[in-house]
Amino acid sequence: MKYIVALDQGTTSSRTIVFDLEGTVRAQAQQELRQYYPHPGWVEHDPAEIWSSQLATARQALAQLNPKAAEIAALAIANQRETTLLWERATGRPLSRAIVWQDRRTAGLCAQLRAQGAEAQIRAKTGLVLDPYFSATKLCWLLDNIDGARARAEAGTLAFGTVDTWLLWNLSGGRMHLTDVTNASRTQLFDIHRMQWDEELLRLMRIPSRLLPEVRPSASAFGAAAGELLGLPQSVPITAVAGDQQAALFGQACFGAGMAKNTYGTGAFILLHTGSEPLQAPGVLTTAACSALGEPPQYALEGSVFTAGAAVQWLRDELGIIADAAESERLAATVADNGGVYFVPALSGLGAPHWDPYARGLIVGLTRGVNRGHIARAALEAVAFQTRDALEPMAQAVTGGLAELRVDGGATANDLLMQFQADILGCPVLRAKTAETTALGAAWLGALGAGLTSRAALAAGWTPQRRFEPQMSAGRSAALYRQWRRAVERARGWIEA
Ligand code: ADP
Repeated sequence: MKYIVALDQGTTSSRTIVFDLEGTVRAQAQQELRQYYPHPGWVEHDPAEIWSSQLATARQALAQLNPKAAEIAALAIANQRETTLLWERATGRPLSRAIVWQDRRTAGLCAQLRAQGAEAQIRAKTGLVLDPYFSATKLCWLLDNIDGARARAEAGTLAFGTVDTWLLWNLSGGRMHLTDVTNASRTQLFDIHRMQWDEELLRLMRIPSRLLPEVRPSASAFGAAAGELLGLPQSVPITAVAGDQQAALFGQACFGAGMAKNTYGTGAFILLHTGSEPLQAPGVLTTAACSALGEPPQYALEGSVFTAGAAVQWLRDELGIIADAAESERLAATVADNGGVYFVPALSGLGAPHWDPYARGLIVGLTRGVNRGHIARAALEAVAFQTRDALEPMAQAVTGGLAELRVDGGATANDLLMQFQADILGCPVLRAKTAETTALGAAWLGALGAGLTSRAALAAGWTPQRRFEPQMSAGRSAALYRQWRRAVERARGWIEA
């Protein structure tokens, strides 16, 4: 028996799942990760807690399994992306808490860069929009706000990293300062065409290049994790690293141009593989997809929906019209259709393709006969409509468009939502067998990096748990979507800047 250990360091928890080479879960452990909100709009993690929680789950999962050392074939990392850390090379001591991807503190810096006319250059090189979401302005903020940090960065005594880099550093006792192409592509300092750090962007963002980790393909030899750390008699090769959404794309066996996945959690993350072409599409990001050593770079288009399952949480926690998320399906099924009600859940603005921080939520189309069932249905339908909003520009960019959508995440348990998604997209929706697509993707990538599998074998072995075919007439689907677009227009720019 051979096992792959997948570390999945997420925004709200650290998890470790041990898979066998068939992709079956053999052991797992999870710990919550504490969130810090020191000011409105700021979100931080404690780097020591990221590492200790991740390590604890790895030790727990491996202890459940009690494997012989030779059976652990590889370790792979999937991680929350963009979150920014800065530490001292000599001691590994962090200079501050990590600035989490959700943190908006650098909105002013982004506005300044936009005013300097930097946006087009940034978009062309990195594939990203100018937004506090990405690491570059967060790192710049740390260098500007921590006493002496910039001088020490220039002297080469500090190291920058995203969460993968921080885990690699700690797994190797400070010997590795590495990242992979998918994580690098989210920093806003990386030229995704040349696949290297970009001197012009570094100058623009005032980031000394001595801070940066070396970038490797996602499936490649990163080094070894010390055995004693993991409670094992010998070290384990680290053969893969990828950002969580790219790992999920891999875990859905979306390896070729035109293949897409959506992960429906709190938000929704939609990625469409574009092969070895870095395509552009209006309102969505171009980003690196997982690639293996010796292959040409791989790319994807990506759109994020900020509020997906969170709209269902809002029905539960703030309106109190459902007791748990699953009840949203039963309640929505009490009405035949949305009764003309549309809920635009722009509760924290709108993401792709609108990128409108001033949009706010609205429920429109109310008449005297509208009831809780219609509101629940409108919330679920909104998840599907927003997915189409993000997917449409992507699908138009690839030849042949979208043949099917592979889906995972907590809200895919909702059959009504999945059926409506197929109806609104007009293509089949394929629900994954495992809810743990991110960890599975990391494990597969780790197996690929260790030479234990191939993409062809993984693609052949992938089967959905269930397939939802479009059933609605094209005319009705188009009419519903048209009304949705009108509702979105009314939600946009609602609060005054
Ligand atoms: P995350 O990783 O973002 O925490 P999960 O993949 O665990 O998300 O999914 C949780 C989200 O899915 C929650 O926002 C919840 O409201 C939503 N959700 C869970 N079950 C259902 C369901 N049956 N119907 C609709 N939404 C659901």
